[in-house]
Amino acid sequence: MGIEQIYSEVLREHTNSKRNKHHITEPTVKLNGVNPSCGDEIELELRLVDGLIEDAAYTGKGCAISQASASIMIDLIKGKTVDEAAKLADTFFGMIKHEITDEEQLEVLEDAIALKDISHMPARVKCAVLGWHTLIDCIDQDSKSNRD
Ligand SMILES: [Zn+2]
Repeated sequence: MGIEQIYSEVLREHTNSKRNKHHITEPTVKLNGVNPSCGDEIELELRLVDGLIEDAAYTGKGCAISQASASIMIDLIKGKTVDEAAKLADTFFGMIKHEITDEEQLEVLEDAIALKDISHMPARVKCAVLGWHTLIDCIDQDSKSNRD
């Protein structure tokens, strides 16, 4: 399967859009995610207030899949609680690993469903999950700093 088949209109739109690609004011957590196998880098910034993701954005460079996936993720998690975002990440990983194939279960992922077929391209999987792994790292760091 070639990249063009996966590179749907949804991905094209997110890759070219700068809507979610910028810095935010007063981020409470920001972390880098790197995928050395492709050279993708993103920095995710979140402003978490009382367990709610008030704002989120990313900066970085890399392949279209990594950047579009991060942008789609930000659309999904903004305004959600941290727990909801973590659950979405679980569903996304399940979709990518082909453990969740039920379309009703995947509906919550909205535009991210465009990345479903990436599971057939092992080399690109790390690109697709980079933003989501960075999100989980951010959530972990936030919950640690709240405990201390
Ligand atoms: Zn990549």
